[in-house]
Amino acid sequence: MKSMSQSPLIVAIDGPAASGKSTVARKVAAALGLVFVNSGAMYRAFTWWVLENGIDPGDTAAVLGLLKSTGFECGEEDGTGTIAVGGVRMTRNELAASAVNAGVSLIAAIPEVRERLVAEQRRYASSRGVVMEGRDIGSVVFPDTTHKFYIDASPEVREARRRAEGIVDSIAQRDRIDSSRKASPLVIPDDAMVIDSSELGIDEVVGSVLERIRSSAE
Ligand code: C5P
Repeated sequence: MKSMSQSPLIVAIDGPAASGKSTVARKVAAALGLVFVNSGAMYRAFTWWVLENGIDPGDTAAVLGLLKSTGFECGEEDGTGTIAVGGVRMTRNELAASAVNAGVSLIAAIPEVRERLVAEQRRYASSRGVVMEGRDIGSVVFPDTTHKFYIDASPEVREARRRAEGIVDSIAQRDRIDSSRKASPLVIPDDAMVIDSSELGIDEVVGSVLERIRSSAE
């Protein structure tokens, strides 16, 4: 592919909670030999750290104080981006804890938190090709990439997916906060390919994404 031999390829995949974008992004990254980066995990990791420090996610002044004294280290393990916050790597269970689900959208609405994490995301992709998924990847983090996707699914399908995973999540509440916040709300980037995954299998979605990337890179 033409763009792969030039600057690192960046594939941006956005969408609401439980739309299937993580699974799709992981498979697309594996197929293209790129690193999969789950930017939501970065916001979750900092939220876990806030809670671990006994801070209420709604106490913005205290969150900002902690942010100033906290270091972030991004790395890579088995083709997946990793993040340590305050020197700690959280487990998958910690990142999916119900207290994190309940607080993460409040933390992610704070502009200074976004500035720090967006800077990490851009630095990360400056030296390697990535498939990064989140809420603002195509609209704000990498607005210049030609490879933008928005994966959606109906609220019923998304709620059912979370229930099937056995995870307590406040999807409707997170959607509301993520879409209505002032700083980098969840939007469909103008030039994104929109895929509704409600009635599709993961492999069909992955196939459409790969086809589009390959055709636009020819
Ligand atoms: O993708 P996931 O559902 O794990 O993201 C958790 C939360 O992190 C989202 O509900 C949103 O508040 C925040 N987030 C964000 N911007 C991103 C990725 C996630 O605000 N790029």
